Amino acid sequence: MNNTDYITIASLNQFSYCPHRCWRMFCLGEFTDNQYTIEGTSLHERVHTVGDGNQENIWQVRAIWLKSEKYKLIGKSDLIELENDEWYPVEYKRGRKGEWDNDELQVCAQALCLEEMTGKEIATGYVYYAQTHQRQLVEINDDLRAETIATIADVTNLLETGKMPPAIYSKRCKGCSLYSQCLPMAVDKVKRYQEI
Ligand code: SF4
Repeated sequence: MNNTDYITIASLNQFSYCPHRCWRMFCLGEFTDNQYTIEGTSLHERVHTVGDGNQENIWQVRAIWLKSEKYKLIGKSDLIELENDEWYPVEYKRGRKGEWDNDELQVCAQALCLEEMTGKEIATGYVYYAQTHQRQLVEINDDLRAETIATIADVTNLLETGKMPPAIYSKRCKGCSLYSQCLPMAVDKVKRYQEI
């Protein structure tokens, strides 16, 4: 990486889900689909093909690129809305609200870009969960901003060094499309065997 390179907003989401997965995807270039990733891709394709326009005094713009020079971030938004002179991002997800906060972090990263592009503070964003058809409010507060900025630094460091974070088995592994490449339980067993 050099100082003209950008990191993707998607990589922050992946790092927050699992640093080892982020390393596999963005340092090794590995990716395998599973049911969840295919459903996610098809949802985003549907969202991006709906046109821009006005809906009940809310201006909607879909599938535009967001960028921040300050944080060296880039990524495509699903939906940006303007209501009562307030801009906010809406990120679409295939399932229901999960136990982890990587979706909120992705919305916050979009808000940081949008703030730089509009010159206005973004106080809120949303995650739309397709399974429950519900929008989850995301407050772009100081804690979430700090967590997002720290994750940007972590991902930048990961891409610069290429150093592999350990694969640690957790509940998240069950839904991970890279499970068969990673084999976290086997890695764990080998490590324990070596320690005997
Ligand atoms: S299987 Fe688990 S440890 Fe391996 S990349 Fe996926 S989430 Fe990370």
